[in-house]
Amino acid sequence: MSMQGSVLAVGKYLACLEFMLFPVWRGIGVGAGVRGVWSHGWGRSLQWEPDGPAQGPRMPVVDYPVWVVLCRGGRARLWEACQRGRDVIRLPADMLSIKLPQLFDIHQIPKVFREESITSGYRHPQSSALDCVLSSFQMNNETVNIWTHFLPTWYFLWRLCVLGSTMNFLSDSYTWPLLVHMLLICVYPFTSCCAHTFSTMSPESRHICYFFDYGALSLYSLGCAISYGYYVMPECLVNSWLHQHFVLIALGNTLFCTSMSCYSRFLELQFPQRSKALRTGAFVLPFIFDTVPLFYRIILCCGGSCVTSDAFSSHCYHLLFALLTCFLFTANFPERLAPGRFDYFGHSHQLFHVSAVVGTHFQMEAVIADMTSRRTWLLAHGAMPSFLGTIGVLVASLVLNLGIIGIFSAPLLWKPCHGPNQPRTSKSECKEQ
Ligand SMILES: [Zn+2]
Repeated sequence: MSMQGSVLAVGKYLACLEFMLFPVWRGIGVGAGVRGVWSHGWGRSLQWEPDGPAQGPRMPVVDYPVWVVLCRGGRARLWEACQRGRDVIRLPADMLSIKLPQLFDIHQIPKVFREESITSGYRHPQSSALDCVLSSFQMNNETVNIWTHFLPTWYFLWRLCVLGSTMNFLSDSYTWPLLVHMLLICVYPFTSCCAHTFSTMSPESRHICYFFDYGALSLYSLGCAISYGYYVMPECLVNSWLHQHFVLIALGNTLFCTSMSCYSRFLELQFPQRSKALRTGAFVLPFIFDTVPLFYRIILCCGGSCVTSDAFSSHCYHLLFALLTCFLFTANFPERLAPGRFDYFGHSHQLFHVSAVVGTHFQMEAVIADMTSRRTWLLAHGAMPSFLGTIGVLVASLVLNLGIIGIFSAPLLWKPCHGPNQPRTSKSECKEQ
């Protein structure tokens, strides 16, 4: 290569390097009314050529470093480009006119929507479905309730996907109890999130939304029973009568739990304390039953099947959060101490959601730890999980619980003031329910 060739090659390389180091603005466009162009060469020697380059076709756009835009009229061009961009991305006027729903104080809404010690931030008691969805992005007394169960749904779904990539849920029947457990810990927060979102469409919708919420929680207790029955059961109880009927009894518990909790809503206005006690009892019973194998292992350590160190801490944290969840559900703490102070942040139901989700997380970790560490022993001594005993029971329980929810919902859907053949009454007529 000649000397001149080498110099040219080095020059091209440096020009290329310069381009990479100094980004070039392309795209304001000179437009029809602008004749001149910026030219530049080595050493950043910039030159404005009013009539453009002497030779060759005029480029439709100008190329120059970004910082030059701010000099010698570039600022005006930048402003022009911003205006054009704003026109392109301008939102339709209708979208901009969307207004967030109005909020109300406790004395402005029907009794059925009132929450103890929550005095403000209520949504309209006959909101549309769109208003309900929009309200989840507006700060009201349900917003945190919605998000504290919406986000964990995605966390548990992600955990299920990760487990699905490492375990063979399709053909390895040993994993089916875990699959049922994981499905139900995705379902219950999602159902709760929907219940809190759409519970202000009408008094009837409020009841029906929470019927589904209770049904999902009840099914979750069945998921716990199935996984505990196969993975957590102490060695001394494996193949016992309790072990053989554990899932079946848990199925009965879900029917009892859903029925009692749904029924408790009918007592809420007249007998609030009795309603709360009934609902709490409805959920505590399946929890205690499901936890029997765990208590057996922790306290009695029977048959040498103490909880291993892997699972022990997770089981303990789960029990701790379960107790906290129960306390928050029943005590209405802290809003009871200062009504109105915790309307938006920090009231007991929000804490109850968070505590329930954290407890569920530790429970999931404990079940996975027991499942993996006890696999060999359980497969050698216990019965292999069957399709009917896991997925079959889940489907049967789902159908039966939906039936119960249907039975409790039917009288609400055919109430005279909302009857399909009768004119819809005004808000005030159906207000005090
Ligand atoms: Zn809730």
